[in-house]
Amino acid sequence: MIKVRHLKKVFKTPGGDELAVLKDINCDIEKGEVISIIGPSGTGKSTFLRCLNRLEEPTSGVIEVDGMDILDRKTDISLVRRRMGMVFQNFNLFEHLTILDNVTLCPMTLLGKSREEAEQKGMELLGNVGLHEKAGCLPRELSGGQKQRAAIARCLAMEPDIILFDEPTSALDPTMVSEVLGVIRHLASRGMTMCIVSHEMQFVRDVSTRILFLNDGIVYEEGTPEQIFDNPQKPVTKAFINRIRTLECRFEDKRFDLYGLFGKIHTFCSKYGLGIKTLEKIQHITEEMLCGIMPFRGPVTLLMEYSEKTSRLCMTFIEDNAKKGILDGVDEDSLSLMLVRGMSASLTEPQNGVVSIEV
Ligand code: ADP
Ligand code: MG
Repeated sequence: MIKVRHLKKVFKTPGGDELAVLKDINCDIEKGEVISIIGPSGTGKSTFLRCLNRLEEPTSGVIEVDGMDILDRKTDISLVRRRMGMVFQNFNLFEHLTILDNVTLCPMTLLGKSREEAEQKGMELLGNVGLHEKAGCLPRELSGGQKQRAAIARCLAMEPDIILFDEPTSALDPTMVSEVLGVIRHLASRGMTMCIVSHEMQFVRDVSTRILFLNDGIVYEEGTPEQIFDNPQKPVTKAFINRIRTLECRFEDKRFDLYGLFGKIHTFCSKYGLGIKTLEKIQHITEEMLCGIMPFRGPVTLLMEYSEKTSRLCMTFIEDNAKKGILDGVDEDSLSLMLVRGMSASLTEPQNGVVSIEV
């Protein structure tokens, strides 16, 4: 369906230098495939998507859509764009139009549909994404998750052959990520051809038929989710897939700023797509440990380590210069310890002054 050969994109920086973002991209996208594009930030994932529908003008190379060379000046790019929907991080809804009007505008103006026909189809699509009741609302009356679902409905109203998603959930509150991913999963199950840039590794793994790992301007590695996640071949892919996200906080004594810490934990969880339940669990465990269980015989460090690949989160509480175990002398029946045990998958004390909790 889409064939990309030797795609190159060079930006001119304000200083006049040249920045080769895409150096030599080659790939094919077949009908019905769900291709995810992952890679370090700044590697050109957005630029690549934007080149596919020529929102960005490629410097050189070939992009063919159903055999049609879209970089050829004679090709009517508006026709090509009509068949390629795009969903952006920031929704890009028309703020002054109702949700229904957002969905019906392009089918009426570009596809020549009657208002009646466009509205009937629009209501059906809004129903499919759970927004039937919001049809008459303005975008500002909707939550972020609802706005993104509306943007997806608007995109579907154009009956595209392929939808390009550029980090569709990264501007959302963690609580709203799953409602949007749910809609995309549903589209995948119905065989919609999609190309998705996302940092939601679990989602990428579940939904993709193939993953492209972009690095240093090329498709550095590609494969099935199993190949990329369980058996990556090249060093940068391995490092990226197995990377551990960490948050480290240090407390001199018991009078630390608990709410400031909750804020940091919240930021950490939303950055790496940890859901609200996990966030609450981590906050409860932190509070019980630091305000109830830790003896604070010396400064304490909290280290959180999260592996996106395995979705495992480990919290380690470390007491400086510990001579005794943290849990020595803590009553097994104390409410704090029972709560912490109840909320964690495992709790161990590998050495004096260190408690390790898996969430
Ligand atoms: P990603 O989506 O992988 O994070 P982008 O495609 O957004 O990466 O950007 C890749 C690189 O290209 C970045 O270094 C970015 O600063 C640069 N870049 C993107 N758009 C422009 C532009 N219009 N002008 C100059 N540089 C740009
Ligand atoms: Mg991007």
